[in-house]
Amino acid sequence: MRRYFSIIFATICFCITACFTALRSIVYERENSIFASSERVFTVVIDAGHGGMDGGVVGKRTGIKESDLNLGVSFALKDVFEDAGFFVVLTRKTQLGLSDDVGLWNKNADMRKRREIIKNANPDLVLSIHQNSLPSSTRVRGGQVFYKTDSLVGEKLAVLVQDAINFVYSKHGVKDRVAKAEEYYMLECTNAPSLIVECGFLSNAEDEYLLTTNTHKKQLANAIFSGVMAFFSQS
Ligand SMILES: [Zn+2]
Repeated sequence: MRRYFSIIFATICFCITACFTALRSIVYERENSIFASSERVFTVVIDAGHGGMDGGVVGKRTGIKESDLNLGVSFALKDVFEDAGFFVVLTRKTQLGLSDDVGLWNKNADMRKRREIIKNANPDLVLSIHQNSLPSSTRVRGGQVFYKTDSLVGEKLAVLVQDAINFVYSKHGVKDRVAKAEEYYMLECTNAPSLIVECGFLSNAEDEYLLTTNTHKKQLANAIFSGVMAFFSQS
């Protein structure tokens, strides 16, 4: 199964890097597809979780903040999607949080601003980027994708993105994880397919090390992108 998926994944990567234009034109021209109009530019909102006074979870070994890693992965994703012709909207572009102007960390104000940005963008897709932590079980590793409960479209997208992330982690000997349905605020901001992508466990030293490298961030970004493209090509 792993070998089979490796072939599929390698094929997708080849298409993306070597002939994305051709792939996109084929996909865009599919009748009844989400890419039905060749004129339309697709919008993806990339939401770097936390920021500013809210650093999120913290690296076990180095103390690195989740908020900074989220931003790094989000910028890597932005590059990949923009190179492919998507219009990208970032909810957070700096290390500051979205409620820092209030003077105190205000989780509700931060979340409301993210929702407002998503609503205004009228996106085709939302990717919210986070890092995981499970201090009680430091051996747990890998990426984890969440989709909105009862969303069949969200589940389909999540499974494809999870598979692609699993492939990245399989090269480091990490067991596959399974996409899960959850009721998170960030999954409820729009009717467009929305995912929360937890890129790795900061409670695990190996994951933490990988996530601090640009190589791993780019590999994760490419994996998420390939999962998204597989989803759109099947829609
Ligand atoms: Zn988080």
